[in-house]
Amino acid sequence: MNERRLNMFFQELKDLKTKYNIPEDTIEKLDTWLAYLRANQRKYILPEFFAREYGIPHQVVRELFYYATNVGVLEINYEVHCPFCDDMADLEIHDSKNIPNDKIQCECGKEYNPSLFHEKIIISFNLVKTPSKSDRIKYLKE
Ligand SMILES: [Zn+2]
Repeated sequence: MNERRLNMFFQELKDLKTKYNIPEDTIEKLDTWLAYLRANQRKYILPEFFAREYGIPHQVVRELFYYATNVGVLEINYEVHCPFCDDMADLEIHDSKNIPNDKIQCECGKEYNPSLFHEKIIISFNLVKTPSKSDRIKYLKE
């Protein structure tokens, strides 16, 4: 049995290894990256930023973010953008079932039905956990 020290800001992320078989070094990168986001960066996080910073393929990172949502560290946003001016609608949507299937009005004056413009719906994430300091040093049994 091999015991490895893992400093974690978000204990919940440890489940990504056991549940989804994500490599530890990837989990640690995500853990640190999320913990050091500034207050104004903790909403509408695009997985692409993390992917670019660490050179990890976008597809892998997207899955990683979905898994982090499943363990309660992140929350998903469906950002609805206007097909005419690209402005983001003032809606809080965390479930794709709640994407409006009716016309809404944009501040630019145009109306559109968000469900007909899938390419204008952008998936981003909010950090919903506070990084823990007291639990930073933990031991992970392998
Ligand atoms: Zn508009």
